[in-house]
Amino acid sequence: MREVVDGVFELRLGYVNVHVIITDDGVVLVDTGLPGRSQLIERALQGIRRPLGEVTTILITHHHPDHVGSLAELRRRTGARVVAHAADAPNITGAIATAAPAGRIGKLVSRLIGTVEPTKIDQLITADGSEPLPGFTALHTPGHTRGHVSYLLDRSGGVLFAGDAAASRRGRVSGPPRAVTADPVRAGHSLARLAELEFEHAVFGHGRAVSGMAVEAFRKSIT
Ligand SMILES: [Zn+2]
Ligand SMILES: [Zn+2]
Repeated sequence: MREVVDGVFELRLGYVNVHVIITDDGVVLVDTGLPGRSQLIERALQGIRRPLGEVTTILITHHHPDHVGSLAELRRRTGARVVAHAADAPNITGAIATAAPAGRIGKLVSRLIGTVEPTKIDQLITADGSEPLPGFTALHTPGHTRGHVSYLLDRSGGVLFAGDAAASRRGRVSGPPRAVTADPVRAGHSLARLAELEFEHAVFGHGRAVSGMAVEAFRKSIT
C-alpha cells in the first residue's frame, strides 16, 4: 500500500484501486475492489497497523462490480456505514440487476469478475455537494454511471477521489472508457466540472495517483 499524501493510501488490487483514508473517526474506504478481496484489504490494513474493525465508513463511487465487489463482505465484517448515490443504489442493493457491460470486452470482463453479492446502503447521497462525513464532499459526476460520485477530501491542498469519472496513465488524465460508460457526453461534462475545482492530488479507480497540481492534468484532458 502506497501513501499518496498524509493518511491517504492507495491499494492496487490488480487493475483496480481501493483507497484508505485515516481520519479522526476511524478508517474510511473508497470502493472495495472485485468480489472476494476483503482478506487482501484486511492484510493491507494490518500493514499500517489498522485492524479491519477500525473501518467505520465505506464511500462508494459507483455500482460497477470492480468497485462494489467486496462491499457486502466488508460491510458484514466491519459493520461500517455504506454511502452511495441514490441513482446507483438499485444496482448495489440488488433491486435491479446490473446490465452486462456492452461489447465483447465488456462480456469478457463480466465473465472474469464473478458474481457480486447485493448489500444494503446505510446512507444515500441525493444532493450534490453534500458532506457524507466531515472533510469529504460528495460530487455527483454522472455519465460513467447515473449515480457516479467523486469525493473531494479537504486535506493537503485537496485530494480528489475520482472513481471512474476519470482515469490516469503515466500522469495523464482522461475520461472513462466509452465501452463501459453509460453516457459518454455526460461523462465529458462531469470531467470538465472536476477540472474547474482546485485540488493538489487525485486518485482514480484505475491508474496511479497524480500528485502536485493534479487539477492541471484534468484541465489538459479536456482541451
Ligand atoms: Zn466503472
Ligand atoms: Zn472501474
